[in-house]
Amino acid sequence: MLTVRFLPLLAGLASTLSAQSVPAPTVAPNAPRVLRAARVLDGTGRVLVRQDIVLQGGRITAIKPSVGPLPAGGIDLGDRTVLPGLIDTHVHLGWYINSQDKMHTDGDGDAPGVSALAHAANAWATLRAGFTTVQSIGEADNAPLRDAITRGHIPGPRVLTSLGSLNERTRGGSPDSLRAAVRRFKQMGADVIKIFASKSIRDGGEATMTPEQLQAACGESTALGLRSVVHAHSAESAQRAARAGCTQVEHGVFADDTTLALFAERGTWFDPQCGLVFRNYLDHKPWFDGIGNYNAVGFAAMEKAIPLAEAGIGRAARTKGVKLVFGTDAVAGAHGRNAEELVCRVRRGGQPASDAIVSATSRAAESLQLGKEVGRIAPGYMADIIATAGDPSQEIEASLRVNFVMRSGVVYRFDGHSIAAGGR
Ligand SMILES: [Zn+2]
Repeated sequence: MLTVRFLPLLAGLASTLSAQSVPAPTVAPNAPRVLRAARVLDGTGRVLVRQDIVLQGGRITAIKPSVGPLPAGGIDLGDRTVLPGLIDTHVHLGWYINSQDKMHTDGDGDAPGVSALAHAANAWATLRAGFTTVQSIGEADNAPLRDAITRGHIPGPRVLTSLGSLNERTRGGSPDSLRAAVRRFKQMGADVIKIFASKSIRDGGEATMTPEQLQAACGESTALGLRSVVHAHSAESAQRAARAGCTQVEHGVFADDTTLALFAERGTWFDPQCGLVFRNYLDHKPWFDGIGNYNAVGFAAMEKAIPLAEAGIGRAARTKGVKLVFGTDAVAGAHGRNAEELVCRVRRGGQPASDAIVSATSRAAESLQLGKEVGRIAPGYMADIIATAGDPSQEIEASLRVNFVMRSGVVYRFDGHSIAAGGR
């Protein structure tokens, strides 16, 4: 029987789980266990039918055609479609809606405990939706969240985080001071460096960092073995990032054919958004209205960006050599809705469904330099496995119907079956 657990502290969040009890385990805790699946999308575009996935010690040890009865302690996933846990390369787990029904900001009166629990709730919502690894473009307070999840104290996806960000004014903005800022993030334990190289889409998105500044920030990141992820909307800012050797460009609403060709030439990862982030802001204006650039001009700019963003997904998907990766920019209100972006990319952007799934599994893992650890269902990989009602490679909306979630061999969700509490 698989280990299933969640922290009693968060038991309220799991109220949707069934209250029936699970029979006591009948196999040794470290014995190999089998997940039986009618259909497996392996994360690279391959589809396998009637497979047994063998798990041990939190990893996949074998995958083979199902033969004979299911061994003791196995789980039969019936007609579900099984795929690797999804990966979102751009979320903000620390953003949430506060006690006054507004986007949380520093000094809004929320006690630190309230914020910490909101972060944990975002992590749990994300995991329940089938996202087992995320890159949280966050603040310093993402570190305790990441570490509590790693230690198994609270349920959540595997978290990589930037712990903050750089822009053209950081420490005065000289190349040397930007390099020093990168080193400081590394010292703090950042997994990735986040750089703002253009204005927000709500302010027009023009370039803000010079080529020299980007070379300093991205060059220092590379020298320290860290990836650099760059917010860039205008073609000029995105091109500067690619030329400076930055690892990944985010957003790129105004990325044109020249920019895409440069991404392909330089091997720059590209993570444009199709719709979830914009829709979340526009559908819930009262949560954001009046905070910073969330005003009438800002909302109008986002409304205008939607058709460009949708068309941009298709253009990127069709440009040979562009490494199109999945990231939602999930902010307050969007956690747990990450798969809506997959639906947008396929239905509105025209990306083929099977490619969209690869971009959120093996390709996303590769972008995070975790390509040998997660993002595939294959021997040696972490047992990050989810299942959906329906086949998302045929009907992308099935990605919204996740009903089984396992991360590192632990089951966190299995609809229709009970989950035993076993926190520590
Ligand atoms: Zn973001």
